[in-house]
Amino acid sequence: MALTGDYTLELADFSVPIGFGVLPVGDAGVVTGALICAGAALLPDIDHPSGTVARSLPPFSGWLSRIVARLSGGHRRGTHSVIGLLVFTLLAWLSQNAALPVGDGLRRLAQSSGDGSAPNVVEALPGQVWPLAAVLSVLLIAFAVKVLAFLPDRISHANWLVAICLGVVVAIKPPDHPWWFVIAVALGCAVHMLGDMVTTQGIHLLWPLRTRLPVPSTFYRGKSFVRFPVLGKAGSGMELAVLTPISLYAVVGLACALAAWSGVTLS
Ligand SMILES: [Zn+2]
Repeated sequence: MALTGDYTLELADFSVPIGFGVLPVGDAGVVTGALICAGAALLPDIDHPSGTVARSLPPFSGWLSRIVARLSGGHRRGTHSVIGLLVFTLLAWLSQNAALPVGDGLRRLAQSSGDGSAPNVVEALPGQVWPLAAVLSVLLIAFAVKVLAFLPDRISHANWLVAICLGVVVAIKPPDHPWWFVIAVALGCAVHMLGDMVTTQGIHLLWPLRTRLPVPSTFYRGKSFVRFPVLGKAGSGMELAVLTPISLYAVVGLACALAAWSGVTLS
């Protein structure tokens, strides 16, 4: 396997056209999107108050976790269901579409009220900012960097620094694609759900309904937890062995999408 600078991923004798701007120089959009996706892939487990994610950004993550656990009916239920995925996706969509016309608004105000020229400081402001997407990005990136242990312990708070810097990029100059944030969040959550569904514990996919899917009862745990337990118990070596490449693939897939619309020619 080789990663080349001109965005070609070669796997043995077959070449996958993938834009992977993360490694060589780091296109801001690709890095941001990939980290948001990785953060979103941890998000469903916010329903587990003593889990890694709930303990990742104290005290905030602990409070959030207790609230979510109560609303979603407990671990692997609401946040791991179709409804949960839709809620996370809707939240991402709303965030991406909630823009404040800060610079544009002030410049228009200056034009209509004076001699037509706005002060330099107003001229320098970005036309629009995306505050909700920025806040969510900061949280998801901070989750991702902290939990995936990209940083050594003695600089563990640097996760906030990384997250806030990229959050500023999202706030004033996000990738210019109508779905980039939605894709990153939804893909991350969906990969997490799939990963949990192939363990023996399964997930309450149709929460809050107790309706059953037309599959044999071996694919159910209890009344409502769907499972296709090819991976054994959560946390098993088998799970790690299979999920690590799947997570990487998700990130690569996202990077591919991002590169494609950022104008990179795929070879
Ligand atoms: Zn989970």
